[in-house]
Amino acid sequence: MLRVRALEELMIAKGLVTPEALDRVVDYYERETGPRNGASVVAKAWTDPAFKAWLLSDGTEAIHSMGFKGYQGEHMRVVENTDNVHNVIVCTLCSCYPWPVLGLPPAWYKGSAYRARVVREPRAVLAEFGLDVPERKEIRVWDSTAEIRYMVLPQRPAGTDGMSLEQLATIVTRDSMIGTSLIATIV
Ligand code: FE
Repeated sequence: MLRVRALEELMIAKGLVTPEALDRVVDYYERETGPRNGASVVAKAWTDPAFKAWLLSDGTEAIHSMGFKGYQGEHMRVVENTDNVHNVIVCTLCSCYPWPVLGLPPAWYKGSAYRARVVREPRAVLAEFGLDVPERKEIRVWDSTAEIRYMVLPQRPAGTDGMSLEQLATIVTRDSMIGTSLIATIV
């Protein structure tokens, strides 16, 4: 099945399938294998220090252990946001993206403006997303390659102490795992 899916994705990339078929696949990636998968990985990392350590040291295996694997997820590296470092992902060459955990990339991720500018002037680009990263905080831009796909581990917001794994997963947004937004503090 994974091989079939990979073929489907290739055909779409080459314009060999109809928009209706594309919609169905997009729907699949958004609802079934989309950012909800990544969100459950993040929630687990927030609540399980051993898993978090594994995730950061071997993202591929840790993510595969949760059943999220497949095309564009063969080699994963997870980068952690901290009080001192903000991470953001891009593919400057094309649109490489960790499909098994984030689904299909948003249009802007594939756009030449984001791809060219986020490397050169990440702070300005993030500000345009409404994310003001303080000057004291380092911004690291991770350029996906044919070899590695990246995912950001966002910081757990304040006010979430009593939340279950499932509840935590619901507050993790796609863009927080790309690095173009933070997760809002729960009040
Ligand atoms: Fe690419």
